[in-house]
Amino acid sequence: MGCNHVKVPGGGFAIVCGRGRPTPRCRWCVSRPGKFQCDWKIGPGKTCDKHICPEHAQEVAPNKHLCPEHQKAYAAWLTDRQPKEAP
Ligand SMILES: [Zn+2]
Ligand SMILES: [Zn+2]
Repeated sequence: MGCNHVKVPGGGFAIVCGRGRPTPRCRWCVSRPGKFQCDWKIGPGKTCDKHICPEHAQEVAPNKHLCPEHQKAYAAWLTDRQPKEAP
């Protein structure tokens, strides 16, 4: 992992090395920084991890955010999970 030259507003470059990566952009609007990552589980120990801005993220639990794609999956899951009538 080397260093990257990153354009900064107003012209000029900043040098970003190693772990200091520039903030990823939201996958949906691209113009905003993806402040959150989707916490939807897609497999054992794996989450969706798509970057989402506060506009596109839905906070479903404290510090748990979902991308627009998984907000739908979450809604379906909620419907599925409706309490079963006791026999
Ligand atoms: Zn967005
Ligand atoms: Zn997601």
